[in-house]
Amino acid sequence: MDAIKVFCPATIANVSCGFDVLGLALDAVGDEMIVRKTPEKGIKITKITGQDLPTAINKNVAGVAGLTLLDKSDYDGGFEIEIDKRIKPGSGIGSSAASSAGVVWAMNHLLGNPFSNLELVQFAMEGEKLASDVAHADNVAPAIFGGFTLVRSYDPLDIISIPTPAELYATVIHPQIEIKTSESRKILKTNITLEKGIRQWGNLGGLVAGLFQNDYELIGRSLEDHIVEPIRSILIPEFDAIKNNSLEAGALGCGISGSGPSIFTLCKGEDMAKNVAQTMHKTYEPVGIDYDIHISKVNTHGVKIR
Ligand code: ADP
Repeated sequence: MDAIKVFCPATIANVSCGFDVLGLALDAVGDEMIVRKTPEKGIKITKITGQDLPTAINKNVAGVAGLTLLDKSDYDGGFEIEIDKRIKPGSGIGSSAASSAGVVWAMNHLLGNPFSNLELVQFAMEGEKLASDVAHADNVAPAIFGGFTLVRSYDPLDIISIPTPAELYATVIHPQIEIKTSESRKILKTNITLEKGIRQWGNLGGLVAGLFQNDYELIGRSLEDHIVEPIRSILIPEFDAIKNNSLEAGALGCGISGSGPSIFTLCKGEDMAKNVAQTMHKTYEPVGIDYDIHISKVNTHGVKIR
């Protein structure tokens, strides 16, 4: 096989209590990418549709992540990449991660899968470093592994796949304002109190246990963030109204997706996810800011062939 078309999923990072360590992949939202082997060495981005992004390989995360893989492989040729960008950059649902993860997964597939998923995450993290100055893995790990992933350790990198309860859906509202990950990192404090730490790791343990035990109620009450959300939510118009109304409409929990401005909820079943979407519409229509709403099952397979 010399060419492949892949779906590169959007992802929700942090998931309230798991700042920089937890993430999940979505099914109904993502980019598409075509990757082709070429006899010429190196990587070329030949076409980008959907968004205005650089094709220079050192300025596009797909180029940087792809080159990292190419450097480590003994393949003698190169690759051409076409990106159909459907996830807006700076949306908080892993636009850059979709490209970084998609390209390394597709290249690995075309080379006969010489690299493990863990190695692919390491290559994709180089793309994330270009996008936000920090080589974080909480978006690229679920995009590659699928489902929920926990970055137990960054050094050495240790990624744990967590099972997804069958009826788990996400409803995400994306207000069309751009928040750069790098900017929304700068406003965070670098220290936390022991009291806040205790609450946070209690919730993180609770969420992971809830996912393993299919306990939707436990998942819901663990979706709390006392560290990052109070600071970052100030950047998101009507965050509190969306959160309160979504919880009232039956969402299990609600928080900031990645670094925002997208706000996610987790829901039990599609009907509940649709109810929450309706509530989000009602809340945001009068605000006067354009927005998108996505309803999606949690994606348990990650990047896949289209
Ligand atoms: P997101 O959380 O949606 O990925 P970020 O702010 O982390 O948003 O990253 C977007 C940044 O990465 C933008 O500055 C964008 O120009 C840059 N970028 C470079 N290549 C890509 C790509 N292929 N897809 C998305 N963003 C890219």
